[in-house]
Amino acid sequence: MSRPKYAPKNPLQSPRFGDVATFNRLPYVPDLKGKEVDIAILGVPFDGGTSFRPGSRFGPRAVRDASVLCRNFNPSLGVHVYESLNVVDGGDISVNPLNLQATFKNIEAHVRKVHQAGARAILVGGDHSIFLPELRAIHAQFGKPIVVQFDAHTDTADSAWGEKYHHGTPIRRAIEEGLISGADVFQIGIRGPLTAADQEDYCRQQKINILDIEAFYDLKRRDQFFNAIHNRAKKGSRPVYITFDVDGVDPAYAPGTGTPVVGGMTSLDALQSLRKLQGLKICGANVVEISPPYDHAELTSLLGAAIVFECLSLMAKNTSSSITTLRSR
Ligand code: MN
Ligand code: MN
Repeated sequence: MSRPKYAPKNPLQSPRFGDVATFNRLPYVPDLKGKEVDIAILGVPFDGGTSFRPGSRFGPRAVRDASVLCRNFNPSLGVHVYESLNVVDGGDISVNPLNLQATFKNIEAHVRKVHQAGARAILVGGDHSIFLPELRAIHAQFGKPIVVQFDAHTDTADSAWGEKYHHGTPIRRAIEEGLISGADVFQIGIRGPLTAADQEDYCRQQKINILDIEAFYDLKRRDQFFNAIHNRAKKGSRPVYITFDVDGVDPAYAPGTGTPVVGGMTSLDALQSLRKLQGLKICGANVVEISPPYDHAELTSLLGAAIVFECLSLMAKNTSSSITTLRSR
C-alpha cells in the first residue's frame, strides 16, 4: 500500500487543545466516494433507545474532545496506526431524535455507503440500539460476523412498554433477523441482578457464549474463552465485529453511562482484553452508551476514545484484512 493520505494533525504545529475537535485529530471527510479511505469513524448522537438514564446523544462530541490525546503508535500491539491505514473522521450519521425507525434507516444506509466506498466503519454512539441497523449493513456486506460484545447486559430482552426496538434488544432482534447466530456471539463482563431467574434462558437456547464477570476473573477461563473466539473466527477466516458497551466496565472507571452495574472490569482489563483479539479480521466496531452528563473528569469519554484507538490498532495490525477479504464463508 502506498503512503497513507490521511493522518492526525501534527501537535507541534497545531496544539492538541486547539482547532475544531475531530476523532483522533483526523481530517474530517464526510463523503468517502473515491477517497481511498480504509476506516471512517462516525458519530451516532442518538439515545432514543435508552430505557433508563439518557444522555448518550452527547457521546460523539465528548469522545471527539477526549480523543485528542490518542496519538499514533500503540506500544502494546507494536503498531503505528496511521502508517498502514487511511483513517478519517466521517462526521455524524444523521439522526432523528424523535424517531427510532427513521434513525435506523439512516444508520444502515450510511454504513452501507461507507462499505461501498471500500471502507470499514467504527461507530461512536449513541445507545446500544444503533447496533441493529449497523448489523444489517454489516451482514449485507460481510455475511454473518462473529460478534465480540463487552457489556454488563446480554441485550437479549424481548420488548419494553410494547416496543421491540430499544438498547436492551439488539442481539435478540439480530438473531431473529438472521444477521447473526447465537453461537457466534461472545459476551464479556455480563453481571448484575436480573428481573427473573429465567431471564437468560434465551441466551442458553441460542447458545450465546457468555464470560460473566466471575468467569472473567478466573484467568484460566478467560484464556479459554478468548481461545474459543479465535477458534470460531479462524474457520474460514470469518469477519469479527467488536461492540463495546462502556457499562461492561465498572462504573468506578466508566461512570458516564445510562445503565450502570457495579462490580465490573477495570479500564486496563478492557484494553488488555481487546488486545487479545489481535490477528482476527475486524470488519467493524462500535463503542456505545457513553453518557457525558453522568460522567466525571471525562473518565468515560477518555475510555471510549481509548477503545476506538485499540480497535483501530487491531485493524492496522492485521493489514491482510481489507473489505474485500472479509466476506464470511
Ligand atoms: Mn449494557
Ligand atoms: Mn448493551
